[in-house]
Amino acid sequence: MTDNASSDPSLESKTRNNFVRNLIAEQIERGEHSGDVVTRFPPEPNGYLHIGHAKSICLNFGLAEQFGGKCRLRFDDTNPEKENQEYIDSIQADVRWLGFDWDGEVRFTSQYFDRLYGYALHLIENGDAYVDELSSEQAREYRGDWNTPGRNSPYRDRSVAENLAAFEQMRAGEFAEGQAALRAKIDMAAGNMNLRDPVIYRIRHAAHHQTANTWCIYPSYDFAHGQSDAIEGVTHSICTLEFEDHRPLYNWFLEHLPVPCRPVQTEFGRLNLNYTITSKRKLKRLVDEGFVDGWDDPRMPTISGIRRRGYTPESIRNFCETIGVSRGDGVVDASVLEAAIRDDLNVSAPRAMCVMDPLKVVITNYPEDRVETLTAPGHPSREDLPARELPFTRKLYIENDDFREQANKKYKRLVLGKRVRLRNAYVIEATDVVKNERGEIVEVHCRYDADTLGDNPADGVKPKGVIHWVSASHGRRALVRQYDRLFSVEQPGRGDSDFLDDLNPLSLRAFNQCWIEPGLADVPAEHRVQFERSGYFVADRYDHQPGAPVFNRIVALRDTWAKTRDQE
Ligand code: ATP
Ligand code: MG
Repeated sequence: MTDNASSDPSLESKTRNNFVRNLIAEQIERGEHSGDVVTRFPPEPNGYLHIGHAKSICLNFGLAEQFGGKCRLRFDDTNPEKENQEYIDSIQADVRWLGFDWDGEVRFTSQYFDRLYGYALHLIENGDAYVDELSSEQAREYRGDWNTPGRNSPYRDRSVAENLAAFEQMRAGEFAEGQAALRAKIDMAAGNMNLRDPVIYRIRHAAHHQTANTWCIYPSYDFAHGQSDAIEGVTHSICTLEFEDHRPLYNWFLEHLPVPCRPVQTEFGRLNLNYTITSKRKLKRLVDEGFVDGWDDPRMPTISGIRRRGYTPESIRNFCETIGVSRGDGVVDASVLEAAIRDDLNVSAPRAMCVMDPLKVVITNYPEDRVETLTAPGHPSREDLPARELPFTRKLYIENDDFREQANKKYKRLVLGKRVRLRNAYVIEATDVVKNERGEIVEVHCRYDADTLGDNPADGVKPKGVIHWVSASHGRRALVRQYDRLFSVEQPGRGDSDFLDDLNPLSLRAFNQCWIEPGLADVPAEHRVQFERSGYFVADRYDHQPGAPVFNRIVALRDTWAKTRDQE
């Protein structure tokens, strides 16, 4: 163990798998950095945040927390046509739900449009930028490719005065979209394509959600991003690996402009999760084309979808901690995310019983009008969770699946002529079945052994199985939605295939005949519970009403029921 670990083991384990944390800790140790870390999370408000963004949020806000610094939320709003207020609102709600709060007010790149415009003038005045009037096709051709150096545009050597005048015309709306663009004058032969005179400003005759019609020219991402970082005093500008090739450009702008500070860009590997897509464009298609019920459909990998599915913010943060932060791109198995919520709910979720596919049981030796209130622990190992009251009555429901007329020894549930324990209640023995005209079993008649509450039967033969049940007269009806993975293949849309062809047709199965313990019908929305032997569920954030319960399956239990059952 290192000294660090012995003084704060959690810090040591947290630092181990996060190279950015290590990097900053080393910078501070070497005295290269004061420790006043400033980071930012810079989403474009063109969709809802997804699980990949959660990684970036946990990283940026987490670093600020760990080093006692600040993290800003900045909307990178330079594409007005694709952005809107709904996205701005949802992004803020999602960041807060994850448990983070940004430093100061929310910021917008658009707040800096005046300053960015000034920076553009500065570049022009220094001969570092020019207004190009090549058509987009020509510009592409002049740009060259990996193997061919680009060629200089004929507009490249315009005078400063000419450039200033043309840029003013751009701003004044005298050009059509695509007719002119402001470009940095760097190097058309650069091996790094990003340095081949990248566009700084382009024309968009579009109203902007923050600045309305003030502008018809908008800065490019590359130009706006680094300068916004600098304006905000960001020390560590953390972004995903695909921006590595943009770093020389990021630095070029900082070197050529009178910016107030010099942020340093560091790239990390983005989160890719199998059975999932993390592209806003594709997620938007699922929503727009009605394949899911909105951005927050519980099957969506959006933060709001994951929330509605029933995940806790802690589980997402723990997931992000577990997967770590490295410089490599990898694919994380969806089961890692599922394990994160199981670990959380195994400890925190109270237990309950829910019968999803009911079969009626009549206890023929139990009086018609008798109601006994049995109690069951709220949680097997947490005494702080209140005990549950379970009314026991002559008529009950069990799962269809938990009864067979005949079965071999492996089937440890209720069999005609055999015994089983009702969870938290008595041992019963099936004596008869009632069938309908189609020969289907509609009722099982049983006898109960009144001496078996918490005790083995007098003959000492312990029943092999334990099954769950709900009183038919006191249980409450519920709608239960069993969600599964949205895609049935690991890499949806792999190769040339359409990701829509990979949707899992069984990603939602609704059970509208369910019976739940009476105490569960009136829980508040977003209440989480383990339905024993089945999985973890949450009262739906929107559709659940006290008295009209609707539960979503968050995740199935690991298949450990057989083992625990044998131990009882
Ligand atoms: P998309 O490709 O889905 O549109 P984006 O990267 O364009 O995503 P932004 O709004 O620009 O979306 O992202 C905000 C921040 O989140 C960026 O810093 C980006 O690098 C980070 N981010 C986006 N996707 C992921 C991911 N899968 N893993 C980690 N970070 C991500
Ligand atoms: Mg982006």
